[in-house]
Amino acid sequence: MQFGFVGKEATKGLLTMLQPFTKKCTDLSTEDEFAFIFYCDLCEKAWKSVPVPFSRRERKSFFAKLFRMYTLLWNVEHRDAFERANREGMLHFNRCTVCNRWVCDDDFSEEKNKCTCCSQSNDSIEY
Ligand SMILES: [Zn+2]
Ligand SMILES: [Zn+2]
Repeated sequence: MQFGFVGKEATKGLLTMLQPFTKKCTDLSTEDEFAFIFYCDLCEKAWKSVPVPFSRRERKSFFAKLFRMYTLLWNVEHRDAFERANREGMLHFNRCTVCNRWVCDDDFSEEKNKCTCCSQSNDSIEY
């Protein structure tokens, strides 16, 4: 029996349900581990989540016989890993209070609590 890649096709439905906090997100998950890349909404600087191993990967041959069950487990863990990656990622990016975009430290003004884009355009009005 051939063991194929469980990835993208099987999780399409789940991924459309779960929205990443950034506009752009890449799913790097394989059948062995889960990892995601999130990008700054302004400059697209990438942050990669810490890969989480799929708990059943050592028992692949056993689960290959129970393919549906394997896929189901993979989907559940993939979903959890994605949610965790989103929470972690939020610590690495900053949310602009004006435009609600998630931006990297380079694109964020700490004292104004805005992205550089918004703090430039609003300076004359605010001060
Ligand atoms: Zn950036
Ligand atoms: Zn902004």
